[in-house]
Amino acid sequence: MLNQLADFFRDHESIFVLTGAGISTASGIPDYRDEDGEWKHRKPMDYRDFVGEHAARQRYWARSFVGWQCFRRAAPNRAHRALARLEALGRIDAIVTQNVDGLQQRAGSREVIELHGSLSRVQCLDCGDASTRETMQQRLRAANPELEHLSAQALPDGDASLEAFDRDGIRLPECKSCGGALKPDVVFFGETVPPAVVESCYARLERADAMLVVGSSLMVYSGFRFARAAAESGLPIAAINRGKTRADDLLAFKVEADCGETLGQVVSIFEENQALTT
Ligand SMILES: [Zn+2]
Repeated sequence: MLNQLADFFRDHESIFVLTGAGISTASGIPDYRDEDGEWKHRKPMDYRDFVGEHAARQRYWARSFVGWQCFRRAAPNRAHRALARLEALGRIDAIVTQNVDGLQQRAGSREVIELHGSLSRVQCLDCGDASTRETMQQRLRAANPELEHLSAQALPDGDASLEAFDRDGIRLPECKSCGGALKPDVVFFGETVPPAVVESCYARLERADAMLVVGSSLMVYSGFRFARAAAESGLPIAAINRGKTRADDLLAFKVEADCGETLGQVVSIFEENQALTT
């Protein structure tokens, strides 16, 4: 299987890569969506609830204040680095990621399209003004000093104390330009991916000669549609994923193993082969 994957990289030089949560779990980022694309550990934040209810935004930002502290400490792992290397070696044309952690860019990948946005950015729901998540964190802390203790209590064992805090309510910073409500620049459950982002993915797929799925079960339609489009264009599709994917019947082959180990070894094989032929 590893050799088959190494050959896949030898035979194609414009691979469209689609990555999902499975590539970042080794970086300590919980696989927060389950196989149906829903949030695993908590009720998924629904776009309509977030936009329509102040209380939903309070719940989201209180949890997110805690979650961000773990998130920002995460570092790219072997799988992220291997994909960056394969891009530098001229085998990958673009990486479309369903992740919102920015780890692929931090590992050195250049052509990354964030299908579901990025947690590092915040947007105003009214005027669209963009700001950083780091600024939001500081403003949340300044407006709610008690959140600091909460994070210390909540991190080891879930949100029990967070739920208690939720009832009191958290004071939410507002847009500095217009006073509107702030939302992380990520695609929530029930929200559609911006059409311009989808278009740019299809444009990259059009010039690709193969597709590779890494760490995604493709249960979410936003990612699955690219596998379907690739299959319709006759592109070979490979996958590295533990377990079933929604595109199993479209795949040329699948490696059911750890993303980092697999890609790390494939880079070694690929580079050895390249050294032998030059
Ligand atoms: Zn605004």
